[in-house]
Amino acid sequence: MPISGDLLSSAMAGIAFIGCAMTSVTPAPGAPPQARRREVVVNGKRVKTIDVHAHCIVPAAAAVINHPLEAPGLLMHDTSTRIAAMDAQGIDVEALSINPYWYRADRDAAAHLIKVQNETLVEFRAASPDRFVAFATAALQHPDLAAEQVEYAVKKLGFRGVGVAGSVAGEELANPRFHPFWAKCEELGVLVFMHPLGTRELEPSGRLAGSGLLTNTIGNPLETTIALSHLIFEGTLDRFPGLKICAAHGGGFLPSYANRSDAVIRCFPDRVGPLPKKNPTAYLRDGQLFFDTIVFTPEALRHLIAESGPGQIMIGTDYPFPWTSTEVDLVLNTPGLSDDQRIAILGGTAARLLGIAP
Ligand SMILES: [Zn+2]
Repeated sequence: MPISGDLLSSAMAGIAFIGCAMTSVTPAPGAPPQARRREVVVNGKRVKTIDVHAHCIVPAAAAVINHPLEAPGLLMHDTSTRIAAMDAQGIDVEALSINPYWYRADRDAAAHLIKVQNETLVEFRAASPDRFVAFATAALQHPDLAAEQVEYAVKKLGFRGVGVAGSVAGEELANPRFHPFWAKCEELGVLVFMHPLGTRELEPSGRLAGSGLLTNTIGNPLETTIALSHLIFEGTLDRFPGLKICAAHGGGFLPSYANRSDAVIRCFPDRVGPLPKKNPTAYLRDGQLFFDTIVFTPEALRHLIAESGPGQIMIGTDYPFPWTSTEVDLVLNTPGLSDDQRIAILGGTAARLLGIAP
């Protein structure tokens, strides 16, 4: 599909105002045209691919609490590099999210920050409605305010999902004080995208220091594992059966070792209770939990699907962070899937949950 005139003119406008930073993806006069947009086809059917794990930032919101802008690739003032990466990877739509950096902000600052942030996310979507949707943001440290924010975001701003971290300034998402937020998410039917911020409580010990970026490499999936385990064992998922949570990075380590969570109920019954209504493994596949594909190999994705079912999986790329650029091929190369299952993972499930026309 040719690049639309709108896209080209916005790319050219970016050149005019941004200078040489984007020249690697924008053709100079007389140069060959940009690489073609990869169109993903399964059994003759063009599939709209949707990436549910793509980061951005809103500078005006970050400025409210003097938060740094983290990485240049998060910025959305010129999306030509981002869209070129999407085109090369075969990603049609990114569902943008912002890692929560505001969970320690006071109520007034958090209210202002989220208002600016969500309204700007709407602008990002409006500027390229065929390429971007977004997860709303909310100040979970003030659960009643967060419930109001998500309601406003859905009913007034048109969001269909909301992002959360794996904990809230050291508090577990399963803490009952967050029940008003979960109740509102369930009532509104929004998809919650849960992205970890690492296991910061471990960092002062030094155990994640040294080589290997362990604060992220294992700290991030560990936080997701802890958060999901508490949501299961503390009864949060039972209390809100309509809740839909998509956990980043394939759900962390939980789907790789979920049967240990069933085993503890058999082996240490006096250490579990009140009991969740189902075996913990059942929560992985019963429709409340979803997972992105960032598990790196077809064998890992095959196993994740074996634990969760193909209907619980959606593409994630982690853009602009360079963990992966081959998620479409990962889905296409994972063994044992039907065409319909591949189409669901590539975008069908995300389209349904986020209200995107297929
Ligand atoms: Zn990420």
